[in-house]
Amino acid sequence: MPALESHVIVGAGAAGAKAAETLREEGFTGSVLLVGEEPGPPYARPPLSKEVLLGRADPESARLHEESWYRDRDITLMIDTAATALDRREHRVGLSDGSRLRYDRLLLATGSSPRRTRVPGTGLAGVHTLRTIDDARALHGLLSRGDRRVVVVGAGWIGLEAAAAARRYGNRVAVVEAEATPLYGTLGPEAGRIFADLHRGKGVECLFEDGLFAIRGEGGEGEVGHVVTSRGAELPADLVVLAVGGAPRDGLARAAGLRTDDGVVVDSALRTEDPDVFAAGDVARFYHPLYRRHLRVEHWANAIDGGAAAARSMLGRDVVHDRLPYRFTHQYEQAMEFSGRAEPGSYDRVLVRGDISAGSYLVFWLSAGRLTAALSVNTPGATGTLQSLIRSGVPVDPDALTEPRRPLAQLIPS
Ligand SMILES: Cc1cc2nc3c(=O)[nH]c(=O)nc-3n(C[C@H](O)[C@H](O)[C@H](O)COP(=O)(O)OP(=O)(O)OC[C@H]3O[C@@H](n4cnc5c(N)ncnc54)[C@H](O)[C@@H]3O)c2cc1C
Repeated sequence: MPALESHVIVGAGAAGAKAAETLREEGFTGSVLLVGEEPGPPYARPPLSKEVLLGRADPESARLHEESWYRDRDITLMIDTAATALDRREHRVGLSDGSRLRYDRLLLATGSSPRRTRVPGTGLAGVHTLRTIDDARALHGLLSRGDRRVVVVGAGWIGLEAAAAARRYGNRVAVVEAEATPLYGTLGPEAGRIFADLHRGKGVECLFEDGLFAIRGEGGEGEVGHVVTSRGAELPADLVVLAVGGAPRDGLARAAGLRTDDGVVVDSALRTEDPDVFAAGDVARFYHPLYRRHLRVEHWANAIDGGAAAARSMLGRDVVHDRLPYRFTHQYEQAMEFSGRAEPGSYDRVLVRGDISAGSYLVFWLSAGRLTAALSVNTPGATGTLQSLIRSGVPVDPDALTEPRRPLAQLIPS
């Protein structure tokens, strides 16, 4: 009788957990080992910068499943264990406890980590990043005091969410951003200005087209005292949140000779050039058939869909991972969903439906008359239609798009 196969997943986050679940759902009866360096079972990160920072949810409630859930499915969850080496010839993964795991198929789902900057002072007490449950717990404890002077460096999704949470408690908040508008690389300047107005309206001091020059300590205690910006502003600070983007954790793949390019390079079935090694989630730079190029997507839905797709691919099924990039965010009273791609240069027109000041509206990005991306704000249920419209690739009538009485579904070709 042939020996049962063994599939190993490195990285016990969203993508890894979903892949393990899918292997079982698809009827795989061999062993499934899910290896994660963090101390507990996999959890969702999106609540960390929202409900957890706002004190509305206990961090433990972000766990995807109890440990028993994994046992019930015969998934071996190896927490507190890092994969330290990958030997592709021997089909083995070296672990931090000195042991080696044999695999038939391996999934790299190692995620990303907050980008660091080399600016002086980032090692001072009071300088934080936000990635893990522990980060969120620590930040919540400080922000909830409500009397902190907080400087957020980086006006991306996580920086803006942290700024919103910090303001909710009444802290004094400044955001320092290199570009002229928030989320510039993702949404371009037009929608970025909407985010800038939103945060300014909530009392956030916005220092745009400025950068982090140094973080200075105070009183010789190794505590943060000031943030100095590139333009020379001196911002008093008790707390600094560094939110300057994520770096893929692709070191294991690179050391094993796999192709990396700011992420592990995979095809649309999430396969590396090694037929037994796959990658999914934040760490994967996958070929997206719709855009005809490789993309790395640091969003929750991509980790879940990608984890499931990678598992099927590991089992030899025909898989095309081609979901539209999609992200949700909550800032103040606004629940937002963004679909598609809208980086500067990818569109030639931006339109709005609804009333921005009333906090309920849609933003559309068009290229050559076709919808390439959309943001829905406090408009539940719009995303499915918007995604179909983006996918259809048909020219859309701008007047119909911006006319609130015209149902969006009517614009989708039948
Ligand atoms: C604070 C925060 C808020 C977010 N909010 C949103 C949101 O509102 N909407 C949205 O769409 N997305 C959001 N995201 C992004 C989303 O959470 C990520 O895209 C998603 O978690 C990626 O999942 P992943 O499994 O690829 O990586 P991860 O969740 O990072 O999991 C990877 C795991 O692998 C482990 N690991 C790494 N290397 C090794 C190794 N060598 N050995 C063992 N284990 C290893 C890591 O420690 C980690 O636990 C947010 C992210 C953060 C940090």
